[in-house]
Amino acid sequence: MIIVMKAGAAKKDMDEVLRCIKDLGYMAHVIHGTTRDVIGAIGDERGKSALQALETLHGVENIVPILQPYKLASLEVKKEASVIRISDDVAIGGTQVVIMAGPCSVESEEQIIASAVAVKKAGAHILRGGAFKPRTSPYSFQGLEEEGLKLLAKARDLTGLPFVTEVINPETAEMVAEYADILQIGARNSQNFALLKKVGQLRKPVLLKRGMAMTIQELLMSAEYIISEGNQSVILCERGIRTFETATRNTLDLSAIPVLKGKTHLPVVIDPSHGTGNHHYVAPMSYAAVAAGADGLIVEVHPDPEHASSDGAQSLKPDKFDIMMQKLRLFTEADGRTL
Ligand code: PEP
Ligand code: MN
Repeated sequence: MIIVMKAGAAKKDMDEVLRCIKDLGYMAHVIHGTTRDVIGAIGDERGKSALQALETLHGVENIVPILQPYKLASLEVKKEASVIRISDDVAIGGTQVVIMAGPCSVESEEQIIASAVAVKKAGAHILRGGAFKPRTSPYSFQGLEEEGLKLLAKARDLTGLPFVTEVINPETAEMVAEYADILQIGARNSQNFALLKKVGQLRKPVLLKRGMAMTIQELLMSAEYIISEGNQSVILCERGIRTFETATRNTLDLSAIPVLKGKTHLPVVIDPSHGTGNHHYVAPMSYAAVAAGADGLIVEVHPDPEHASSDGAQSLKPDKFDIMMQKLRLFTEADGRTL
């Protein structure tokens, strides 16, 4: 249920409503709006008539049910787009189209520093790089782990770029969060509910990828796991789904952008690298994503893709990324946004 407070309701009225919600065994999530605050009361649907009675409390405007199964992620609870601040000059979900770029995996100091310098020069805002790699084969490169995180931190110190990196299990999540600016939940883990709850308890923004066989509703339910634990900073990422098509690694579902925008206040970014699996298709899909309203992109860029430890075939060389960024700037400006 959503408890809508009157415009300008007093703090003591809000506190009383929060106390009553908790007494009824519900979790209360306050969302501050521009004119009024609303409270999402989340819990067992069976107690909703008790919640309805709170309508008589001082300062309460009205109480409305949340129709969608995802609650805190829905536009019903929060109508304004969420803008997630990453650093002083980078925020995802506003008028700036945010570009995250870098290699699939951190391989060495030289490789991650060269990547960071190159993507920064081309205009990227955030560095990407995997230190823990969830590979399909146990025999493939599994990542440099904590050493990789240290190298990412070094690249951040040198370039000023915040970084996003994947977290693959609850045991290492806190350690990754000590280094990273954004925690990535990969496609293979996006319904790992123990991991979703864990990152929900941490105070770092989360980039939640859509699983390769996940519906949009399921993606929003995974976001709900994170938000309901108290972390509202969730960025959704479409990275391609499995279809019968084999010409591309995955089928990049760009329609997910307007569909999600009609259902959630959370920002939506596109991963054209995993979405297509082929560096030739990355730039066209990036332009299309921005035209369709994506809040950002996460793109694999590698200084030497032929010798990459993972995902070389879909990684752009720095010069190609630079050209793509120049053209992307035109599409972004045509849409009245900035890059
Ligand atoms: C990655 O970003 O390198 C990655 C493994 O992505 P996904 O989880 O989308 O496959
Ligand atoms: Mn990859």
